[in-house]
Amino acid sequence: MIDFEATSIAIILFAFLIFIFAYWKDATAEGFSSDRIFDSVFMIAIGSFLGGKLLFRNLSVDYIKYQLLTSPFILEGILIGGALAVFFAIKKNRWDGWKIGDMLAPALSMYQAILFLGFFIRTGQLSMLILLSGFGSLTFFIRYLKTNHKLGSSTRYFELKRLNRLTFTGGLFATYLTGSSLIAILFLLTHQNFSNWFWWFQFSFYFFILISSLFLIKRRLNIEGIKMNSFIEKIKSILVRRSKQIDKDINDIAENDPFNVEASDGHRNEDELGEEVQDNQQHGISEAIKGELNDEKDMIKKSLSKLEKGTYGYCIKCGKAISEDRLKANPTAEYCMACENKIAK
Ligand SMILES: [Zn+2]
Repeated sequence: MIDFEATSIAIILFAFLIFIFAYWKDATAEGFSSDRIFDSVFMIAIGSFLGGKLLFRNLSVDYIKYQLLTSPFILEGILIGGALAVFFAIKKNRWDGWKIGDMLAPALSMYQAILFLGFFIRTGQLSMLILLSGFGSLTFFIRYLKTNHKLGSSTRYFELKRLNRLTFTGGLFATYLTGSSLIAILFLLTHQNFSNWFWWFQFSFYFFILISSLFLIKRRLNIEGIKMNSFIEKIKSILVRRSKQIDKDINDIAENDPFNVEASDGHRNEDELGEEVQDNQQHGISEAIKGELNDEKDMIKKSLSKLEKGTYGYCIKCGKAISEDRLKANPTAEYCMACENKIAK
């Protein structure tokens, strides 16, 4: 429980401001509208306030009249109220819940770290220091996943997908849920109070979140695994099919080449000069087409080996990712649209 006096309010407000800034910065970088993000911040603030004040109490008219403002916050109430507000914001804005979860996770964990830092400085309690180090480590771990493994970033999502690497929307959110519920469970175990029903409620509450988050991680990883492979598999099958078609075409050309036809007859009529000129011409055309087809085959081989190595889909001039639409239309494209246009000029 968090008491409701001036210093506590100041700590909560300061931490909440940092939360708003981190959430807003990440979400707008991902293309979410600034107005709607602030709109959802407002909903989260109302939701967590009401949750923290109204849930898990014997509600009476007197409580609401005289004690609502002065009563301490109940942390689990804040979490449930805030989560409901996020749920409504997602429905209202038709957001992708997993993506918003990834935007909220770093901000939430930083919010809790700052909160417990403030309370530790104020009270000097060892329990606050434990919570501070728990959420501090979680914040660093989530930041590490975000910057080094590009989790929760959709601009990198398509690049990673193209490289046939693991992508994971909801990864930061799931990490936050697992980490924060583990911290809470460890905290409760060091502060046992078996005779208190609320202790048991808290314990089951965080245990439920922990199990659900582990289940969600497993499920999300399977879904992303399927999504991730579909683009690569599509490109691969287009390339292999085209390569087989080329082999067939080269064979057909060889069969129709007058040089080869006559070679299989075992003799050439040296006297009929006109026919030989014609044959020479035909042979020249066949060779030219064969040359083009072989060049295309080399390009396909190159693309297939790039797919294996995970370097497929990048412009060899500027290094930027080539758009998926361009790659679907021209799977062996080596330049992005901009560079291609520059070269053509
Ligand atoms: Zn380029």
